[in-house]
Amino acid sequence: MDIEDRKCYICDKQAVETEEHFLTDCPALKATRDRYMEQFKAIRDVSSLVGIELMKQLFYPDLLKITARIVQDMYEERHLLLYKANNKQTSYRQWPKNAPIPY
Ligand SMILES: [Zn+2]
Repeated sequence: MDIEDRKCYICDKQAVETEEHFLTDCPALKATRDRYMEQFKAIRDVSSLVGIELMKQLFYPDLLKITARIVQDMYEERHLLLYKANNKQTSYRQWPKNAPIPY
């Protein structure tokens, strides 16, 4: 698959789903990102940074533990959004507990 065909299917930006888009840009994951931004800020204020500059900072050792958690949370959220889109579900609560992740 060409990288241009790796479109993000959880937002309307028509963006290529790169690690940078996922972690720093995708509007579908904004609420989670904003929540974690408060934790980052408690250590170091990175809130004015965007894109690759933000990403570089998130992988510095002092922020890395929080970054690991945000990646895990956002990745699970992405799975739920994809599952919901594929199954035309109306609520996350329909996601069966311990069901296998479809991707
Ligand atoms: Zn997106």
